[in-house]
Amino acid sequence: MNRGFLWVAASLVVPFLCLVWTAGASSTSLRIYFVDVEGGQATLFVTPTGQSLLVDTGWPGFNGRDADRIVAAAKDAGLSKIDYVLITHFHMDHVGGLPQLAERFPIGTFIDHGENRESTDQPTMQVWQAYQKLLQSGKYKHIIAKPGDKLPLTGMDDVVVSADGNVISKPLPAAGGENPACRGAEQAPADTTENARSLGFLATFGKLRILDLGDLTKDKEWDLMCPVSKIGKVDIYIVSHHGWQQSGSAQLVDGISPRVAIMDNGAKKGGSPGPWEIIEKSPRLENLWQLHYSEEGGSTHNVPAEFIANPQGPDPGHYFRLTAHKDGTFEVFNSRTKQTKKYSAEAQK
Ligand SMILES: [Zn+2]
Repeated sequence: MNRGFLWVAASLVVPFLCLVWTAGASSTSLRIYFVDVEGGQATLFVTPTGQSLLVDTGWPGFNGRDADRIVAAAKDAGLSKIDYVLITHFHMDHVGGLPQLAERFPIGTFIDHGENRESTDQPTMQVWQAYQKLLQSGKYKHIIAKPGDKLPLTGMDDVVVSADGNVISKPLPAAGGENPACRGAEQAPADTTENARSLGFLATFGKLRILDLGDLTKDKEWDLMCPVSKIGKVDIYIVSHHGWQQSGSAQLVDGISPRVAIMDNGAKKGGSPGPWEIIEKSPRLENLWQLHYSEEGGSTHNVPAEFIANPQGPDPGHYFRLTAHKDGTFEVFNSRTKQTKKYSAEAQK
């Protein structure tokens, strides 16, 4: 065997081994991409079985900016199709980017809460109708989910906790204790927008519990958390409503006591001081991550730069990628800094 042959053999085998290693690494973990859609939501879950769930699609317009960013995340995850697209509710920053995404990338099934309940709002009607047109094309499957339903994904367990203004009637397993944050507090007035209709779910992956409630408002948080917490503690909280004032009550946040919170705020949308402080002061919090520096938060209500994907100024849409392992360990990668922070399986506080 001459040296030339060995070189050729090595140059073929090493990349192959790397490929096997990469596939192996992703086959046991759950990856979650927090795509920057400038104050909307687009969160992509990819399970170890290779199935995918996209929660919301960002805004319309901007030459398909948000759809392009979602496609980039899907390609980074090695996907050739998004199996499920879950629409939390029918506001423009959640379902608006859907037609552009559908033009660019194959989608299997849509999941939503049913009818649009905000038919008096023109922008909401517009994006709702565009979504209905896609559904009527006959190219996609469609599931209307109710509280208590399990999502059909393989590789992680997802239970719907809120939809169309209703919440689960009983505590989930591992939940059910009295929530001290409800004592002396009152339920917020009813929200009449689509926000309160948000389809929210709890994902369980090994020892980890991950909560995404879309833009669910404080009145519905109360129904979920008071006087008894129907959800229990969570490890990772996808911050409701971009960190805006109408959501993220102490009853919710202290009740779920997340270890890590990830906020899909924009520079000029969300990240409001009130909800920000509630998260920062919640009893088990190790880190809050923000997709953007919040102008409203200013110098006193923003996290250190290493936990921000997009600091002040124009941005190319940096994202976070959370990789979760079944033993309860997980890590968060910031695509701007290229740094990864690892979290142990046990709470440190
Ligand atoms: Zn929103």
